[in-house]
Amino acid sequence: RLWRSAAFVLSAARLPDLPRGGREVAFAGRSNAGKSSALNALTGQNSLARTSKTPGRTQLINLFTLGEVGHLADLPGYGFAAAPKAIKVQWVNLIERYFGHRDELAAVVLIVDIRRGLGELDQQLLNWVTPRFLPVHVLLTKADKLSRNAAKQALFQIERELKAQNPLYTAQLFSATAKQGVDEARARISDLLRG
Ligand code: GDP
Repeated sequence: RLWRSAAFVLSAARLPDLPRGGREVAFAGRSNAGKSSALNALTGQNSLARTSKTPGRTQLINLFTLGEVGHLADLPGYGFAAAPKAIKVQWVNLIERYFGHRDELAAVVLIVDIRRGLGELDQQLLNWVTPRFLPVHVLLTKADKLSRNAAKQALFQIERELKAQNPLYTAQLFSATAKQGVDEARARISDLLRG
């Protein structure tokens, strides 16, 4: 019910364009990691988060309400090899400012393709989050692409890497396609939003 009530608020190209107040959970991840699919699976809405495969487009933060509980902020994906330099600079500026100054930010959901694991850009993002002392929850997406055992191994591996950085960081298996881990993710994220 709560998740199905998620609704689009606005797209912001600059931090001052975001509304103030309430608590917010940010969704971040490499392009193609499955962030839009995860948001759509969580909200049960097939076109809430639209996937744009255009590397040259303006970098926007898409904001959604989650009932009275707070906001979800869909941050622009990173790691487009083909993205023009100007877009990459724009991304760094927007994201660095967001993590540095967005007081409403309560937690981060990091979307990681289970077959790739934590990459350099994911690590850079975690480094921006670290000074805020905020919880991070990793959705290891596309878990359906691996055997149960391989998926479990990948989860152990990333949990080790995360705990080494901050004991508060957590991870879980997720698949938008197989609808795996959806209820677990909903529960964890609404807990993070409520604080
Ligand atoms: P985004 O760029 O991070 O928003 O990624 P998308 O949600 O657009 O997903 C990128 C590609 O991965 C698309 O082709 C999706 O269909 C596919 N994908 C996303 N989630 C899953 C999943 O859980 N399982 C599988 N097998 N494919 C997925």
